[in-house]
Amino acid sequence: MAVLITNIDVKDLRFPTSLLADGSDAMHTDPDYSCAYVTIKTNKGIEGYGFTFTLGRGTEIVVRACESMFYLVKGQNANEIFANFGSFWRKLTSESQLRWLGPEKGVTHLATAAIVNALWDLWARIENKPVWKLLADLTPEQLVSTIDFRYMSVEILYPNVNSTSENKSHVLFFLSTDVITKEEAIKLLKDNEKGKKAREETLVRKGYPAYTTQVGWLGYSDEKVKELCAKYLDLGFTCFKAKVGQNLKDDIRRCELIRGVIGEKNKLMVDANQVWDVNESIKWMKELRKFHPIWIEEPTSPDDILGHATIANALRPLGIGVATGEMCANRVMFKQLLQAKAIDYCQIDSARIGGINEILSIYFMAKKLGVPVCPHAGGIGLCEMVQHLQMWDFVCLSASTENRIIEYVDQQHEHFEHPVFVQNACYMPPTAPGYSTKLKEDCIKKYRYPDGDEWENMYSNGLFQKTI
Ligand SMILES: [Mg+2]
Repeated sequence: MAVLITNIDVKDLRFPTSLLADGSDAMHTDPDYSCAYVTIKTNKGIEGYGFTFTLGRGTEIVVRACESMFYLVKGQNANEIFANFGSFWRKLTSESQLRWLGPEKGVTHLATAAIVNALWDLWARIENKPVWKLLADLTPEQLVSTIDFRYMSVEILYPNVNSTSENKSHVLFFLSTDVITKEEAIKLLKDNEKGKKAREETLVRKGYPAYTTQVGWLGYSDEKVKELCAKYLDLGFTCFKAKVGQNLKDDIRRCELIRGVIGEKNKLMVDANQVWDVNESIKWMKELRKFHPIWIEEPTSPDDILGHATIANALRPLGIGVATGEMCANRVMFKQLLQAKAIDYCQIDSARIGGINEILSIYFMAKKLGVPVCPHAGGIGLCEMVQHLQMWDFVCLSASTENRIIEYVDQQHEHFEHPVFVQNACYMPPTAPGYSTKLKEDCIKKYRYPDGDEWENMYSNGLFQKTI
């Protein structure tokens, strides 16, 4: 029964989080959490929802990029897309004119993520499963077929020696591996098939560990930071992340304050959101070393692979790891970060690189090179999506939660039809079909930009001015 994609649209949705400094860090001092929200409609009435995360101004550009790509999706048979998802992903990211804007980075790749996330949501809804379960139930061959291995392994076509000269069929060889081949990825999954059922049962019973970033937004007062530390400690959290990087004295005071509430046994991470140079990162972190942070996140430019390696080499002996990935452009950059031993924690993001297909490739590279994945989340809908991926990883690939944890921020969940459910500091596995990406109709009506009801109210109260 063919499911045909009859239409696809995108909306610009923005939430006024800058009013309370929610989400503020050293680089993004007044973020309005936003998204380009894609809806795929089909001839069967079933729909898929997906988005990419943005910060207010500029969302209109991502929306336009989505619209420019829609012609590749509209009119397609969804079953055929899912049966050849790796090739379809390449078609989206290699469109011969649009790729000039990237390739595979920036605004077109954000648009790819929004569309691809909506496709996975649609697939999971058709299968009547949450995405983590859809992924876990695919055979290793099916799952790996969704990935485009270009730039990770070399495919070389050789003539089949048994074919006649008129009918030269070709056999496909994977001759050389830059980092990982399809066959290796399939083997990694097969090696872990034993125990898969037991891990799924553990996941359903206990959930997946989370840490909180809620306690340390840079724009929060000391009093608020203290209160939030106490609140999340009470809720059972044992790992806490604070934003740093604007002012060393302030960072020392805030780390002291957080350590004072959470104690020495619990874990602390710090996040500079790319604000430092390489040497500055090392110097600054030596000053914060006494607070025993387990990682420094995004110390410098997300594109500086060798810079991250320098920082990691300097800080590793001090017991501080380097974490990055939330703004890493694509699998090629991740590949280099992993190969250069520039990161100790790999932070995939569900809305930045080209959606689940590309994220899966990063999980495989990280597994092969022995780096734990600790997903970035917190922006609108990121917790909702990323939990599915990390749960699949636990059931099927890494088979472990050791040194692994998902970021959690308690913001904007109320807008989703199936919001995350965190219990005893663990994400509990979603049960509803899809990728947990569907927003409530009422939310869209209120926060559509620039003419949603809430935005009209805020203009008339003088809180905001229209920017488009
Ligand atoms: Mg971060």
